[in-house]
Amino acid sequence: MTRLLHRQIHHAYPRAVGGEGIHLIDAAGRRYIDASGGAAVSCLGHQHPAVLAALHAQLDQVAYAHTSFFTTDVAEALGEELLAQAPSGMSHVYLVSGGSEAVEAALKMARQYFVERGEHQRRYFISRRQSYHGNTLGALGVGGNAWRRAQFAPILVENHYIDPCYEYRYRHPHETGEAYGVRAAAELEAKIHELGAANVIAFVAETVVGATLGAVPPAPGYLARVRDICTEHGILLILDEVMCGMGRTGTLHACAQDGVAPDLMTVAKGLGGGYAPIGATFVARHVYDAFAKGSGMFQHGHTYVGHPLACAAALAVQRTVREERLLDNVQARGTQLEQALHARFRDHPHVGDIRGRGLFWGVELVADRGSKLPFDPGRRLHADIKSAAMQRGLMVYPMGGTIDGRAGDHVLLAPPFICDAAAIDAIVLRLGEAIDAAIADRRAGDH
Ligand code: PLP
Repeated sequence: MTRLLHRQIHHAYPRAVGGEGIHLIDAAGRRYIDASGGAAVSCLGHQHPAVLAALHAQLDQVAYAHTSFFTTDVAEALGEELLAQAPSGMSHVYLVSGGSEAVEAALKMARQYFVERGEHQRRYFISRRQSYHGNTLGALGVGGNAWRRAQFAPILVENHYIDPCYEYRYRHPHETGEAYGVRAAAELEAKIHELGAANVIAFVAETVVGATLGAVPPAPGYLARVRDICTEHGILLILDEVMCGMGRTGTLHACAQDGVAPDLMTVAKGLGGGYAPIGATFVARHVYDAFAKGSGMFQHGHTYVGHPLACAAALAVQRTVREERLLDNVQARGTQLEQALHARFRDHPHVGDIRGRGLFWGVELVADRGSKLPFDPGRRLHADIKSAAMQRGLMVYPMGGTIDGRAGDHVLLAPPFICDAAAIDAIVLRLGEAIDAAIADRRAGDH
């Protein structure tokens, strides 16, 4: 019996009763390697002593102060910490309680930026199919996952789409990555022309596409070209790094690897590492200035923005990542993970693509490698892989609908930054067994 409306009403969830480093522990005493950080959240693993100490200390000082009355030392310190390492041009940060709220804030900031400048006619956002930006109505509105949007479509804001930048399925066989990147970015320019540049507010994109595509990085040069197109046409670039940011790809911000800085950038998940609900929207100087010289405010707000406990958690997580040089480990273990995935799945008949960066990897499953044909979506292979992995003491983040929101299966990996070499080996070993078992079960079920 439960009084909770769980995600899946008919599923019996094990109870998490403890955590220790890279492991979560259930009520039966079973240990699970958290190889996906939940959904790319737990970058420091579980029960990290530095974060627990910071939370206890903050609780003893002040647990809550509404931001329309007060600021707090801890929120200001977090702002300093984040801006000290922000993408170039960023001057301020707006603190919220998660990824969807960070995206909502970015969308409203972008609209208000143009209102402050007297450009009231601007009303369109452009984003990409197969992106995920959150589940609140505004974030879902710009999201490109057909399945998540379908039943809410009549109440979502109008949005305009271009294709994702997804080499495995969109690059022509004899096209270079660079040429594909230019071609994919040209779609944005065409869409801006179609809508009229003066009507467009912003282009919204995940730097590395996470949940819906499975850790797909941009083609070489794609994001730089996108940045130029936005600048040339006077529209804002919003990069959503809620999943891929805060060190997940081996640099603190994923866009650093593409040499690009957006006008607004969202982060969450790894920001607080799961120790408290927190997200943030980075604001570029020109956006901030438009507000400061105009209405003098951002017309937005939630009860829990800048919550002191959430700020304390995020500050402790970010200081730990920086002081313990954990991004070096993300890079080293990331290279190991990449090699181990290739070694295990290079010749696997049902693994079509392995892609990612840092400790953020996706494995795309196919029924047939030659034709890239997906498994029948009705079979929900991704769900079977998830339970086969759980049975083997492994948490991974599989998802269906990779190709178009309906067909396609992938598994997302996002292990904690504190992983050692033995943990990476164990993750790939158990993942291989889980994938093989799930596919074998399917075949057995066919007969
Ligand atoms: N943006 C991206 C890229 C995400 O991956 C997610 C969550 O998976 C969100 C936004 C929404 O974040 P939250 O679930 O914290 O609201």
